[in-house]
Amino acid sequence: MPSTPLPPRRPLTRREFIAGSASLAALALGGCSAAATRATRTQVPAQPFKLGIASGDPSSDSVVLWTRLAPRPAEVGGGMPQEAFDVGWQVADDEAMSRVVRSGTAVADPRWGHSVHAEVDGLRSDRWYWYRFTCGDEVSATGRTRTLPNAGASPDKLRFAVANCQKWEPGYYTAYEYLIREHPDIVLFLGDYIYEKDSDSDGVRPHGQKEVKTLDDYRIRYAIYKSDPALQAAHAVAPWFVTWDDHEVNNDYAGAISERPDVTPAEFLQRRAAAYQAYYENMPLRRTAMPSGPDLQLYRRFEYGRLARFHILDTRQYRTDQLAGPRMQPLAGVPVDPGATILGAEQKAWLFDGLRQSPAAWNAIAQQVLMARIDLREGVDALVDVDKWAGYEHERREVLRFLESARIRNPVVLTGDIHENWANELWNDFDSPEPRPVAVEFLGTSISSSGDGTDRPDYLEDLLRENPCVKYHNNERGYLVCEVTPKQWRTDFKTVEYVTRRGAPLNTRASFVIESGDPHLHLV
Ligand code: FE
Ligand code: CA
Repeated sequence: MPSTPLPPRRPLTRREFIAGSASLAALALGGCSAAATRATRTQVPAQPFKLGIASGDPSSDSVVLWTRLAPRPAEVGGGMPQEAFDVGWQVADDEAMSRVVRSGTAVADPRWGHSVHAEVDGLRSDRWYWYRFTCGDEVSATGRTRTLPNAGASPDKLRFAVANCQKWEPGYYTAYEYLIREHPDIVLFLGDYIYEKDSDSDGVRPHGQKEVKTLDDYRIRYAIYKSDPALQAAHAVAPWFVTWDDHEVNNDYAGAISERPDVTPAEFLQRRAAAYQAYYENMPLRRTAMPSGPDLQLYRRFEYGRLARFHILDTRQYRTDQLAGPRMQPLAGVPVDPGATILGAEQKAWLFDGLRQSPAAWNAIAQQVLMARIDLREGVDALVDVDKWAGYEHERREVLRFLESARIRNPVVLTGDIHENWANELWNDFDSPEPRPVAVEFLGTSISSSGDGTDRPDYLEDLLRENPCVKYHNNERGYLVCEVTPKQWRTDFKTVEYVTRRGAPLNTRASFVIESGDPHLHLV
């Protein structure tokens, strides 16, 4: 059924807020004036919550609440004076915000784009909470968030959504209108939150901005994307764990290497510093992810009790350059080079430690680029994309052999990037006559990138015939819903029939399950 967006609840006026609030003291706490020791009270110039609100990176007793003040989001500076503001926040037990359990004040600093990252602690485990912000007379919409179960708990079930690749111009975010109705406990976002290039003039909603390279440019690009009501609603429905891919900085970059050979690493790192800062400013991340120059620590873990451990990777910041030459290269010619890395030595050691020590029934590895080695045949040559794990074949094999030899419990790789749905078995030895799967990989398609797709593309039969490790493929837009219990993991591929017009119907195109202890995919 075609849908209408469910935008976040309209921000309240001051009068409505006071009428609805049982806690006037909390409002006083969060009063809005320029921060620090300024004598002059400074009101925000206009409603400052136009980029929405978000929460992220919950633990069993805390969560990060995010917003960014920008009364005029499309302008440099967001329409805010160049001074710091106090922003009040409240966390309540109920949607009406009548039982406030935590409140406080955070500083929105112009040096950080007037962003707010309030780390709220002292919360109870495994519970839903509601939150909102205040600034001067203005009150934000109310968002919903939750804490995780305790590390030792044994939850029966986790239901989460996977999204990625939300290029603005090619289509509407209809997929998010449906995602918010799935009631996910968590949303995982796997990269390409923005795209950095010149606005596509042939998309259905060109934004008109040139390629972004400076901090001010990146801030505005985020503001354009974050103006979408369906995206705001998706942030307000559950806490997100985010990671990035290339387009948050520059297409296909690798570590300090730009996609453009005429840009030096020193020049590129300046751009990366601007892009990483804007990323931090616009995401519900903890202080541990505050960037320092061109570096930002994004890989991290979280536990959903003993049911699942999530290892969230960054396959962009530490990788060595892609193989020289074209993106698509003959499989036989791709060297198995031990010097090439997509994780970097430190992250790889951290990943292996975290997997080896995991007490969880399921180990989800949430990352960016295709891990299965797929023959993307064009004519007679077997081709692989060297920007993906296949271009770092030595390390790809090392990871898969580790999963097998260390007997890691139920590894499930979650991937974004290529704007297509895939369900793959990851084999221990691609060239063996009897390869065994050691893990499975689900690729979640894009929210909007690449525009309308098709359920059964014309290359599908060839692809499935040439690649018996591939069990499903589709190239429509949408998201994944994963439901995890101690015995079984289920993934639903949810797609919308088009994105170039609003109101597309939703389909569940396929569902797969894996039974604990057996990394074979079963079509439901
Ligand atoms: Fe993408
Ligand atoms: Ca990408």
